[in-house]
Amino acid sequence: MGKGTMTMKRLALGLLFLLVLLVAAAWILRPQIGERLFAQAVEHAVSRDVIGDLPDGMHVALCGSGSPLPDPTRAGPCSAVIIDGKMFIVDIGGGAVRNLGLMGLNPGATEALLLTHFHSDHIDGMGELMLQRWAGSGRDVPLPVIAPEGVEAIVDGLNAAYAADVQYRIAHHGEATMSPTGAGGTAKAFPLPEGQDQTVVYDQDGVRITAFSVAHKPISPAVGYRFDYKGRSVVFSGDTVKLPIVAEACNGCDLLVHEVLNAEMVGTLEKAFDNVGRKRMVKIMADIPDYHTTPVEAAQTASAAKAKMLVLSHIVPALPLGYLDAYFMKGVNSDYDGPVVLGKDGMLFSLPANKDSIEQGDLL
Ligand SMILES: [Zn+2]
Ligand SMILES: [Zn+2]
Repeated sequence: MGKGTMTMKRLALGLLFLLVLLVAAAWILRPQIGERLFAQAVEHAVSRDVIGDLPDGMHVALCGSGSPLPDPTRAGPCSAVIIDGKMFIVDIGGGAVRNLGLMGLNPGATEALLLTHFHSDHIDGMGELMLQRWAGSGRDVPLPVIAPEGVEAIVDGLNAAYAADVQYRIAHHGEATMSPTGAGGTAKAFPLPEGQDQTVVYDQDGVRITAFSVAHKPISPAVGYRFDYKGRSVVFSGDTVKLPIVAEACNGCDLLVHEVLNAEMVGTLEKAFDNVGRKRMVKIMADIPDYHTTPVEAAQTASAAKAKMLVLSHIVPALPLGYLDAYFMKGVNSDYDGPVVLGKDGMLFSLPANKDSIEQGDLL
């Protein structure tokens, strides 16, 4: 054996020994390393001010891009519109409030919650939002809930359901920290009389929000919303079939956030349930395509509307694998020239005031 080979062997053994030593040290020092990492993470989290750092303009964040069908990567329907430090939430599905926290969007900044309709998946997170907005920020006025008539019963019910919890928190932290007047919500119901399909529901500090009727039969009322601020506009379709009024409400808008259901994929689910004899699920899968919009139809609406960008949200069914995204979106590009984005939780779309650009980011 040559001298050089011996030296190489010793060096390799020495390196191996060092590596074992390092791994052992890391194992033994786990609590100390964890303590350091935790302190750093906490410092970063509490000093993060996502809303305060956003420039003048309208910013749309997807706090939930999913539907009632369980998807590990998507919370129930939720979009946040942030303007000048104020956050407006459109629908609040299950898991969406936790997403807001993970995205650095303090629920305490919520100016108002807007509901498109009262399907459970759009209101599942309402109690949690009311609680977090109050407990997390010391608000002394309840959350305004802007929605079509009928919302009063929902807000009353949730206020009753959370009444005991509110008392616990006041008793525990004191009235100076937990304002006794700020918990829960206040219904701000608006009428949409027969024959009138649009109405302004908020007009303050340069922010105008218009509600328009959509078709989600047999669910009534059901509306979509248009937001306008400093020359920028965003339209939310709400849950609806393909409908000309969505295109009319958009009419050249910057961002069209449209609900979607892929009927072909839901058809596959229906067949699978049929094969194993689950008749109730067969019936439900057969029914749901008739009150939603397919991705291709949403693209047709975006094209008729001359929307600058189409964002698909309220994704049905779940898409747990990347390969499914392309299948889900099949055909959308032949019907619409603009960019189409398949919505994912955490996505942020920024529309700077009085400009044309749309910037895309990610908060998760
Ligand atoms: Zn619905
Ligand atoms: Zn829905």
